Amino acid sequence: MSRTKIVAGNWKMNTSLEDGISLAENLAANHTITHPLMIVIPPFTHLMPVKSVLIGSSIQIGAQNCHQEAKGAYTGEVSAPMLKSCGIPYVILGHSERRQYFNETDELLALKVDAALAQDLTPIFCVGESLEVRNENKQNDFVLNQLTKGLFHLSSSEFSKIIIAYEPIWAIGTGVTASPLQAQEMHEFIRTQIEVKYDLAVAAACSILYGGSVKGANAREIFSQADVDGALVGGASLDAVDFLKIASGF
Ligand code: PEP
Repeated sequence: MSRTKIVAGNWKMNTSLEDGISLAENLAANHTITHPLMIVIPPFTHLMPVKSVLIGSSIQIGAQNCHQEAKGAYTGEVSAPMLKSCGIPYVILGHSERRQYFNETDELLALKVDAALAQDLTPIFCVGESLEVRNENKQNDFVLNQLTKGLFHLSSSEFSKIIIAYEPIWAIGTGVTASPLQAQEMHEFIRTQIEVKYDLAVAAACSILYGGSVKGANAREIFSQADVDGALVGGASLDAVDFLKIASGF
């Protein structure tokens, strides 16, 4: 089964507009292929200028979050219909930083997923356990609970639009990467749970990305795992040379 291979760069709250544009220009000039699919995910303020830079390139663009309501008195928030109206096709939901610092619960995330899908946006839905949970060897139950509460209310055709990112919290921004085997074990577990909930075809078609200190130096080894379909990259996505090296890891 050939799934879409993806390298997505989450810029988080980084880059001035000028630096973001020059990063996007560099990527557009050098990533001229469609495999793997490259997605850049800048801050909201940079979405439209970066999108302009990417016109005519194979690189796609996404947002880092959206609100669960379509519109209204929610100062500081951005809705899924707004992203749709800007031509932004992808949106990260459930990143551990949103869960941790902004108290985004599984129940809220299920609403955000619904809001994004209602606008035909593709959610990149993040799951992943803390070090404490892994030390207790409870990571599978933990991730299954996140999938069940955040995604498994979807119909099979709705679920088919979802990209999953497995991001163990202990590996995000820490320089500690899950071993290829640890990543494979969890990705395989996730795919099996999708099969149990939906069916083999849905599970086999779902792109599952790994996230957590992926760099040019370790991407190829992680991508060599059967159930790893790419990466959601934080820090290294701010460096065009390293991000391009990650993309060349397939
Ligand atoms: C992330 O925040 O999604 C991430 C994976 O960050 P980093 O690559 O910096 O660990």
